[in-house]
Amino acid sequence: MSRIIFATGNKDKMREIREILDGLGMEILSMKEAGISADIVEDGKTFAENAMIKAKAVWELCGGKDLVLADDSGLEIDYLNKEPGIYSARYMGEDTSYRIKNANLISRLEGVPDEKRTARFVCAIAAVFPDGDTAVTVGNFEGIIGYEEAGEHGFGYDPIFFLPEYGCSSAQLDPVKKNELSHRGQALRLIRKEIEARSI
Ligand code: IMP
Repeated sequence: MSRIIFATGNKDKMREIREILDGLGMEILSMKEAGISADIVEDGKTFAENAMIKAKAVWELCGGKDLVLADDSGLEIDYLNKEPGIYSARYMGEDTSYRIKNANLISRLEGVPDEKRTARFVCAIAAVFPDGDTAVTVGNFEGIIGYEEAGEHGFGYDPIFFLPEYGCSSAQLDPVKKNELSHRGQALRLIRKEIEARSI
């Protein structure tokens, strides 16, 4: 059976990936499950570049025989010139709590009206196929930055990411609903189409 190796160690991501890529007739493994470890420098300028850097590095480590997928994601706030963007995980330091990061972003938007608080979560997924061919898909999840944290689900910036259509933050959404709407869910469904279009 052909294998898909996803360049992540994150268990929550692996669960979502397995759900969305189920039924392709391919074994889906995390890097750890495939026995691969790598410290990859993500020095791209976009989510797509960083995802491709990771996918290519892991594909090389696998000896170029598997389908390797990698993602890169983050939050873009329009009023802050798309900060924190590709630096979302590193914003204010990797070890700083999201309570502090979220409070900081809210304070940087003090006095900014709703219509200028637009933001989106972006996720790029890069694929390197066994023949070396590549593809990238991108999902956008649009919202606005709230005035205070709300909700207990999700992670990271979810408590300040408000969805006007649903009247709640993405941390208040049922996790199944979030996966249905999210940047990562969108990008994964698009990469599934890319995989289905090739006979591996
Ligand atoms: P990475 O793609 O796993 O490196 O994640 C990048 C960072 O973007 C995360 O550490 C979070 O700060 C942020 N992020 C990405 N997706 C989400 C999301 O769905 N909710 C909240 N924060 C997110």
